Amino acid sequence: MRWNNRARPLGCLLAVFILTVCLRIPAAPQITTAPSPPATTSVAPESQPPVPPPAAPTPVILIDAAHGGTESGAVLGPDNLEKDVTLTFARRLRQDLISRGLQAQLVRDSDTLLSADQRASIANQSRPSLYICVHATSQGSGIRIYSAMLPSGSDNRGPFVGWETAQAYTLLRSRLLQQQLTASIQKTRFPIRSLTAPVRPLNNIVVPALAIEIAPATGQVSQLATADYQQMISAILANAIAGIRNKLEGRQ
Ligand SMILES: [Zn+2]
Repeated sequence: MRWNNRARPLGCLLAVFILTVCLRIPAAPQITTAPSPPATTSVAPESQPPVPPPAAPTPVILIDAAHGGTESGAVLGPDNLEKDVTLTFARRLRQDLISRGLQAQLVRDSDTLLSADQRASIANQSRPSLYICVHATSQGSGIRIYSAMLPSGSDNRGPFVGWETAQAYTLLRSRLLQQQLTASIQKTRFPIRSLTAPVRPLNNIVVPALAIEIAPATGQVSQLATADYQQMISAILANAIAGIRNKLEGRQ
């Protein structure tokens, strides 16, 4: 029993020693797969959230179905008047442009008689990115695209814009857009001609303005009234206009 009495303090000492040693053992080093970046003395400036660039305004195309009301335009068949072909085509083109992300409006959306001056006034007040007047004809084939023909010297340099030569201010832009649309449509191999002509009301409009004239591709004038043919031309034009959208400014 004396052995037990002496062994008890020794055992306590041994336990204290083991605990002391264990507590002094450093923790196992942590294994990291990537070294910590070196400390830097400079402090990065507080970063500002990037400011997105302002979105380009959506171009606005104003489509003008020529003729209307008591002015029938060309008689393209027994029940096929130009004023009706231009209106149905203008509506298709409006829808095709909207479906391609552009804004599109009609000068007339019913069988209404409007004078050339009224059409020009509507365009000049609306200030679209591009005004397009739509005609239809039995002559020729495919699409004709016109820009204004102005008398020489009508450059409107003064503070007032003459009504008869209002287009002079922006004629270069109109012709540039005409060239680009023509080049785009030529790639589709659809027949297209690019012309200048004194087509009213182009001369009276202060924003880029063009006229298009659609003709049958087969020589059969009845083709102009068919939904398939109108839809094909409308899609060709809408694709071409959407393709130059970055050349079109917002509302002028
Ligand atoms: Zn016409």
